[in-house]
Amino acid sequence: MDCVFCNIVEGKLPAKKVFENDRVLAFHDIQPAAPVHILFIPKKHVPTMNDVTDFADITAIHQAIQQVAKELGVAESGYRIINNCNADSGQVVFHLHYHMLAGEKLGPLNA
Ligand code: AMP
Ligand code: ZN
Repeated sequence: MDCVFCNIVEGKLPAKKVFENDRVLAFHDIQPAAPVHILFIPKKHVPTMNDVTDFADITAIHQAIQQVAKELGVAESGYRIINNCNADSGQVVFHLHYHMLAGEKLGPLNA
């Protein structure tokens, strides 16, 4: 299995990291869709939201989101969290991730 986000977790691919603990890694999206575009992933390989069994990872990701939003100065101005799951959402990378979009007035939800 060759998973781009597992490769980032394992240090085989570079990433601009903004947060890391034992469960979670957060880094800048390589193709930002907003001035602030961060990806939050569990360190263990979970393909989609449908495959989550260890919900402590989800808690840990949400704790990381809260902390990173404060650190990047967007907690008060606002941000959007998105998870794409399977084909209709347009999911491209099949390692669970949440997008954080922020830093400007965001467009409609279903753009
Ligand atoms: P999704 O469509 O939800 O699967 O989003 C995948 C996201 O991963 C896209 O926004 C890509 O720009 C991003 N991405 C793909 N490869 C990398 C990488 N090596 N480093 C950072 N972000 C990446
Ligand atoms: Zn993976």
